[in-house]
Amino acid sequence: MENPSKRTWAEISLPALSHNYHAIRAVLPPECRFLGVVKADAYGHGALRVSELLQREGADYLAVSCLDEALELRRGGITMPILILGHTPVEYTSVLLENRLTQTATCLAKAEEYSEEAGRLGGVLKLHIKLDTGMSRLGYLCAGSYFDEGVRNIVRSCALPNLEYEGIYTHFAVSDETDPESQAYTKAQFALFTGMIRRLEEQEGIRFPIRHCANSGAVMHNPECLLDMVRPGLLLYGYGDDGKLGLQPAMRLVTTVSTIKIYEPGTFVSYGRRFETKRTTRMGVIAAGYADGLPRLSSGKCSYRVAGRSVPQCGTICMDMCMVDLTDHEKAEVGSEVELFGPENDIHMLSDAAQTIPYELLCSVTKRVPRVYIE
Ligand SMILES: *Cc1c(COP(=O)(O)O)cnc(C)c1O
Repeated sequence: MENPSKRTWAEISLPALSHNYHAIRAVLPPECRFLGVVKADAYGHGALRVSELLQREGADYLAVSCLDEALELRRGGITMPILILGHTPVEYTSVLLENRLTQTATCLAKAEEYSEEAGRLGGVLKLHIKLDTGMSRLGYLCAGSYFDEGVRNIVRSCALPNLEYEGIYTHFAVSDETDPESQAYTKAQFALFTGMIRRLEEQEGIRFPIRHCANSGAVMHNPECLLDMVRPGLLLYGYGDDGKLGLQPAMRLVTTVSTIKIYEPGTFVSYGRRFETKRTTRMGVIAAGYADGLPRLSSGKCSYRVAGRSVPQCGTICMDMCMVDLTDHEKAEVGSEVELFGPENDIHMLSDAAQTIPYELLCSVTKRVPRVYIE
């Protein structure tokens, strides 16, 4: 995409994405399939561009959260298999079929609806069964006293006509946490998942070709969970490996210095008068605010990077601008580039300041910020 105004933009490094893909692949057994999670516009990186790259590099599957996201990819020419992780209303079954999309089946009632509608349309809908093993969100109940009922519901789902069950999966709640309690929870979820699969295979004769459960956290911390396919999102975008895989942040959010002014000590800066200069201050106004994706909660609690140096952000972050103290950085001038987060300014500093996680910051980069792809 063009970047004519050079105001605020997000540089997306295609080489970094490709590097990350191969770095993750390198820790997988050779036969393990790779599903790239590209929901939420590929965590803000641009779903079509990221999917084109993954398709070219040889990934096996993509996942999105909803039908519209899947259609964007099909319209953009993506031909590889796409799994929809969320719910699709039964009236869109024809769209699923026409676009060769794989839908998640989250309970028997929905499987029955899809079966009937696919039959009416004369097609066969491809599904992956989702088990709720402890996330308590979508999926067939199967924990604790629900185990036998879960088995029955899956057996009945699999007996329905006009459906092809290509896969079965579950999702971990705390696989990114390494404390013993969290790891025990993940192991219990995994044991339930594999226990259900074993029961279905050994006693019911139902075998799913693709069994998958590993999100980024599990890829990093639970090698026993890789199974037939992994489903990393965050790792692809360069985070969540604690440096172990040498991943590179794929997005660099950049803005520019619009104006520099010198204030006397005792000058209030920005809305709410929350910052007062303590010294003669060379204050820069930068062209990014919360309408670009900077969390307002991080006001006065973070720093950005200008020409190799950190500069503190001062005062309340406004909609379209915020201020940075350039007093100790004479080289910074009007027009200087400011890295808000990226390879030089760790996104975790910003997400900690905003009491959130890198995922949310990546997804929060708004539409008016052009994505500029670096080849
Ligand atoms: C978002 C999502 C993922 C990817 O999670 P990461 O933590 O980014 O790796 C995997 N599976 C499901 C079901 C998801 O919703």
